[in-house]
Amino acid sequence: MPNTTTRDTVILGSGCAGLTAAIYAARANLKPLVLEGHEPGGQLSITTLVENFPGWPEGVQGPELIERMKQQAVRFGAELKMAQLVSADLSKHPYELNLGAGKDPIHTRTLIIASGASARWLGLPSEQALIGHGVSSCATCDGFFASGKEIAVIGGGDSAMEEALFLTRFATKVTLINRTDHFRASRIMMERATAHASIQLLSSTVVEEVLGVEEKEVRCLRLRNVKTGERTELPVSFMFLGIGHTPNAKPFHGQLDLDADGYILTHGNVFVTHNGKDVPGIFACGDIQDRRYRQAITAAATGCMAALEAEKFLEDHGR
Ligand code: NDP
Repeated sequence: MPNTTTRDTVILGSGCAGLTAAIYAARANLKPLVLEGHEPGGQLSITTLVENFPGWPEGVQGPELIERMKQQAVRFGAELKMAQLVSADLSKHPYELNLGAGKDPIHTRTLIIASGASARWLGLPSEQALIGHGVSSCATCDGFFASGKEIAVIGGGDSAMEEALFLTRFATKVTLINRTDHFRASRIMMERATAHASIQLLSSTVVEEVLGVEEKEVRCLRLRNVKTGERTELPVSFMFLGIGHTPNAKPFHGQLDLDADGYILTHGNVFVTHNGKDVPGIFACGDIQDRRYRQAITAAATGCMAALEAEKFLEDHGR
């Protein structure tokens, strides 16, 4: 017998944005259902020390911050479910959410999209073949395995700097490889990385191949200097990716307006559109719609806004 209950509010994603939305929606008695998604806890759950979240003068570990937000949301009545949205039908209201074969669809009057953005890969076949065998996008998860080894980190932004600095706890040498000679990282992170004795910066360099596929463990990177064309090999046991993120908006292609890279376009912070027209009762918050700030605090802020707008929508349209 299919479950035909219609929810007031469903929240997609359990990162900082989704959980803040859940806290607000739960306190407004909307009994939100949070679908935790394929990366529960979002980016903060794979981060180490968060030093810039207000109220934590000594910093706080990302996973701890997320765990506390979860507890806060549950305390007020949010329901968390380990599930992932496969497709959505936004053509009729209440909206229909499908969680895959054999699972009942969920209907909801309001939808808060906080599904974030996932770590990017280079896309090399050798890289893909060695994921979990020395290739990783999560320094926090896999750093320990790099103990006593020489490793590489790819990227020139804050993520790459943060990963490189974190990995110096384990690795004997970290080579940071950036594809241009322009580093996007903030000054403070850049200074910390360049000042560290175990970190070596390699700019204008791309990875052409990860060697070690036959042995099923990374042993070397084949590199090319994009300015000189010179090819070299760098012996390393691990390659960590820190090259940014891809928005998790696939179920909404063709149903909501997205930018060229697939981020959901919003106006008024959290309102979404389709063909330029507002879509009633759907709100987007956090990294799925924010390419500019992408901070825990801004994700939390838009999560709050999305929940307040969902509450207002339900009041205006009768619950
Ligand atoms: P960014 O988009 O800032 O940087 C991505 C980096 O990866 C760039 O150097 C980019 O190079 C490179 N890159 C992208 N695609 C490829 C590719 N296919 N091959 C090789 N290199 C590639 O992403 P981040 O994740 O670093 O940062 C995102 C946001 O989060 C920023 O606003 C940042 O400040 C913030 N952040 C803050 C932290 C903190 O304060 N502690 C920690 C982590 C992130 P190119 O420049 O050539 O495009």
